[in-house]
Amino acid sequence: MTRILVSEVGPRDGLQSIKQVMPLAAKKAWIAAEAAAGVSEIEVGSFVPASLLPQMADTAELVAFARTIPGLNVVALVPNAKGAARAVEAGVHGMSIPFSMSETHSIKNVRKDHPAMLAEIAAVAQIAREAGIHFAVSLSTAFGCTFEGAVSEDAVMRLAEASLAAGAQEFSLSDTTGYADPAQVKRLVRKVRSVVGDKLTTLHLHNTRGLGLANALAGLDEGITTLDASLGGLGGCPYAPGASGNLVTEDLVLMLNAMGLDTGIDLEKLLAVRPILAAALPDEPLYGFTPEAGPMMDYNERIAK
Ligand code: ZN
Repeated sequence: MTRILVSEVGPRDGLQSIKQVMPLAAKKAWIAAEAAAGVSEIEVGSFVPASLLPQMADTAELVAFARTIPGLNVVALVPNAKGAARAVEAGVHGMSIPFSMSETHSIKNVRKDHPAMLAEIAAVAQIAREAGIHFAVSLSTAFGCTFEGAVSEDAVMRLAEASLAAGAQEFSLSDTTGYADPAQVKRLVRKVRSVVGDKLTTLHLHNTRGLGLANALAGLDEGITTLDASLGGLGGCPYAPGASGNLVTEDLVLMLNAMGLDTGIDLEKLLAVRPILAAALPDEPLYGFTPEAGPMMDYNERIAK
């Protein structure tokens, strides 16, 4: 059976885009319950200054907690070398830095143009190498940008190549704005793989316009092995108020398990995690079809041979 890694990013991408701050105890309960359902990688937070994102102020404590869960790969987002040093000190297994393919977005978001970001990537890569931990570059706004509109696919290839030269170990293509379509996913995965090979492992998809699963399937067809998702689709698109957020973990796991792919995740146990979120964030909408409809039969029972 083909192994597909479902990486839960809700505690980072979901929580950072909502106003409410989830209490540390609820975050811990969420992470523990998902790990118990078989989720083997969780992005627990982001090492940004607490003054910018109070939702992420307890990331170091969460890393320490998550490290006590056997078999769980504990990862965090870092915006720069300073954050990377904090992440290493906290004890992460891996970290990733977002690199916006739209230079306008990069300047507005982190006040760095592309050359400055590449210098930051090189600095983070060195910190990761010295600490012996895993380091990925997330090519964000790769499928389009709310400021620049279309993002050049050739530019994405060139910036992926430059990131590789700067020391990136692994890559993710990120549909930050929810603009991707399945044909574009296939094309861009192929193009980026033509320069970084199978170091492109991951798709980070949003379900802003309902194309999340279709885009995931397109990526699987091209050999993508890791998919980011957020429980209950928590989050949202910061540029489109009211729009739904990340690819829904429950729906993604249903699809992958139904296709006979090996996620290692028990869907019933995963569905039982949702009430923790609902209780801790009563004002946040949670998304997903599977939580409403319930799971299907197991692959082996459902598929007549
Ligand atoms: Zn995202």
